[in-house]
Amino acid sequence: MRCDLDADRAVIIGAGIIGLVAAFEVTEAGLPVVIVDPSPVSGATHHAGGMLAPIAEVQYGQESLFPLMARSAELTRGLVERVTDATPLPTGYRDDGTLVIAADRTDAAHLSGLTEYQRRHGMVADPIPLRDARRTEPSLAPGLAAAVSLPHDHHLAPRRFAAALIDALERRGAVFVRERALTLDGADPCRSVRCETVTIDTDGAVVVLANGLGARQVSGWHPGASPLRLRPVAGEIMTLEVPESLHPLTTGVIRAFVEGRQVYLIPRNGREVILGATSREDDGDLPRAGALHDLLRDGIRVIPGLEECGVRETSVGVRPGTPDDLPYLGRVGENVIVSTGYFRHGVLLAALGGRVVADTLCGPGCGSGYLSDLDLSVCDPWRHAEPRGAAPHQPLAPPRSRPGRKSHMQYTVNGESHDTAPITVAELVASITPAASGVAVAVNGDVVPRSAWDRPIAAGDAIDVLTAVQGG
Ligand SMILES: Cc1cc2nc3c(=O)[nH]c(=O)nc-3n(C[C@H](O)[C@H](O)[C@H](O)COP(=O)(O)OP(=O)(O)OC[C@H]3O[C@@H](n4cnc5c(N)ncnc54)[C@H](O)[C@@H]3O)c2cc1C
Repeated sequence: MRCDLDADRAVIIGAGIIGLVAAFEVTEAGLPVVIVDPSPVSGATHHAGGMLAPIAEVQYGQESLFPLMARSAELTRGLVERVTDATPLPTGYRDDGTLVIAADRTDAAHLSGLTEYQRRHGMVADPIPLRDARRTEPSLAPGLAAAVSLPHDHHLAPRRFAAALIDALERRGAVFVRERALTLDGADPCRSVRCETVTIDTDGAVVVLANGLGARQVSGWHPGASPLRLRPVAGEIMTLEVPESLHPLTTGVIRAFVEGRQVYLIPRNGREVILGATSREDDGDLPRAGALHDLLRDGIRVIPGLEECGVRETSVGVRPGTPDDLPYLGRVGENVIVSTGYFRHGVLLAALGGRVVADTLCGPGCGSGYLSDLDLSVCDPWRHAEPRGAAPHQPLAPPRSRPGRKSHMQYTVNGESHDTAPITVAELVASITPAASGVAVAVNGDVVPRSAWDRPIAAGDAIDVLTAVQGG
């Protein structure tokens, strides 16, 4: 449906899932699109598991993200149907739900707390007896501790979905420019996109910066340093082939907590299963042996049949993380939209990102109105920009000794004894990790919400600081 548009075409930089879905939505609005990428689908999208998990991916303290994930999950079903109408290629979408398993009693206590938190936020998370879980998934190991059913968490196959989007776009006449974008020229409005050998005229066009981690390197649209504080978060993932005799190994996604670590198994159509995914703060290179060992050990603990599977592929992808785990999504100039920083949720949030781009293109009062109740200001691409003239960001120094605070006290952090001057929970977290997102804290067994992190630590407290070590 074509409406009263602000622009007559779009130039999308980046052909990962975010750029491709945005491009698809632009063509749905009846506009021509040019997509710039030297190597489409070579980034995080190529490695992603593909879980559409607005509930399983919930982390304590990330309340601003929940409505975005839930709305995008709703949008994804319709998006997949429209893509399916536009191409004969499969998307790998499956709506067979997710089962979450706790391996031992400590994992069960953690899962129970998480389930309660999810339910308090209106999400559907149903604890079920293990014998019922085993009826659905007979390949589960004996001796597990607890199970929770998440009937609304689904999945798709990112590489297949991306191939389907590219085919649909080509059928609609989209032009792919296989070059790296370097600069947006002409300040505001952007008049052209300068690439390695060509320059693309953007007069009358909207430009969408959707190139994942590469967005920091595209200059010209901001003064000084890039406002985007993107960071690489690498993750190992494996593709296994289930022997005929064990097929199907599982009917839906199985996620598990195993001694505090997370692992997931995603069935694909055919005899493939995906086992993922680790998480470490670097830009990856080769998959690490220890990380693959962890995945296999934990996966086999929950689904012993994995031992019989063939290893088809091991890989490491790099997620585009942000300091608060929220994407950078929104208009940053008259004709420039930023859509990146989707971290662990890019497959899930692609539908939302695409809808925002389409609504922005259609101009005020002309969009779908479907997002009008969401607070998208939390995704403001300028929110981490350094104030002009400020010193570059420094990680917080550990609050080991503070002048003027002489008295010391003892407490434990993750079982280890500590002895420092009195500090708050927030100061303790900052001394452990500079990026406090994806961190949960419990004091004496009770989770402390982020809003209460200014509470002082008392002598004798037992503190658990959990970081998100694995996931999508
Ligand atoms: C192991 C792993 C598992 C994951 N599992 C899940 C999951 O189950 N569910 C989920 O929702 N998310 C998951 N994610 C996260 C998800 O993969 C990402 O959030 C998402 O793929 C980001 O998509 P993107 O299009 O922004 O970036 P990318 O997929 O990284 O694509 C960026 C594209 O931009 C191109 N590019 C870069 N620089 C330039 C430039 N200067 N000019 C032109 N093009 C450029 C690159 O070639 C690339 O094709 C996972 C990630 C990993 C690594």
